[in-house]
Amino acid sequence: MAERRSHRSERGSRTAPEDESGDNLGTVNEPTRSRAATEETSGARRDRERPPAPEPLPHPVVDNHCHLDIADGDPVATADAIAAAADVGVTRIVQIGCDLPGARWAVAAAAEHDALIAGVALHPNEAPRLAASGQLEDALAEIERLATSHHKVRAIGETGLDTYRHAQSNTGEEGRVAQEESFRRHIDLAKRLDKTLVIHDREAHDDVLRVLDEEGAPKRWVMHCFSGDAAFARQCLDRGAHLSFAGTVTFKNAAPQRNALVVTPLDRVLVETDAPFLTPTPWRGRPNASYLVPITVRAMAEVRGDDLEALCAAIDHNTEVAFGGSW
Ligand SMILES: [Zn+2]
Ligand SMILES: [Zn+2]
Repeated sequence: MAERRSHRSERGSRTAPEDESGDNLGTVNEPTRSRAATEETSGARRDRERPPAPEPLPHPVVDNHCHLDIADGDPVATADAIAAAADVGVTRIVQIGCDLPGARWAVAAAAEHDALIAGVALHPNEAPRLAASGQLEDALAEIERLATSHHKVRAIGETGLDTYRHAQSNTGEEGRVAQEESFRRHIDLAKRLDKTLVIHDREAHDDVLRVLDEEGAPKRWVMHCFSGDAAFARQCLDRGAHLSFAGTVTFKNAAPQRNALVVTPLDRVLVETDAPFLTPTPWRGRPNASYLVPITVRAMAEVRGDDLEALCAAIDHNTEVAFGGSW
């Protein structure tokens, strides 16, 4: 769709997938239709107007997982997206690259903008495609080079396992093996380079923990867009994780995630958008962005029974701990 161009001009079109199931997304270049195409066939048009800015937070927080390079609707300049977030108290952002062009973009953006640090990796849905074309080794080598190319690359991620997309894309046993091998290699990279590991786990809780246990978890790791229940939260926390909650905790069907949020100690809680995906209630279906984080944080404070300012201060501090210091 012509109007859905990314501002990442060197790549041309880069758009958000159509899936709004409430589960974790966060990849591109998938063999799926665009959101717009779905709307046309169903006869309905999704409202892509940006939601209004919420009331500013009483203390700054960090959006620790965002895809500023993926457009949903009209592209927004990176500096404008950062400024809109800062206006409501979301003063820093972790920009996550999901493939080689995305990783290069993330490094350049972090180098240019004080508010940003970067994560670089091959998304679990990217690994099978690269393996099938014999490019996985070269791509991993390039991720390692990018990870050491700038001091503001603090994270290896997002990596992990995605059973949901894997099942849809029909890459079979070979694809599953490639996904797991890529995950193992990213864990090794995070440990060797002393970076934070950012894990994508979609319908793969047990396998993610199995692989982590076999490889040994890095010192710092984040379960991004936490999608498990309280018992799974405890298993991750026991292994040293910070748990990052997204707009999904505001969804009606997310009682298990809310229970997980309640059992997570205050010093292990993080917040993220995974923008442009996972827009919080009441704006589901509209484009997500870091300036909407206050909606999610307020919902989190209510669920946990925390004072809002105290929760914001904790999230701000926790994010620095999780990503190896301030920036
Ligand atoms: Zn993800
Ligand atoms: Zn993501």
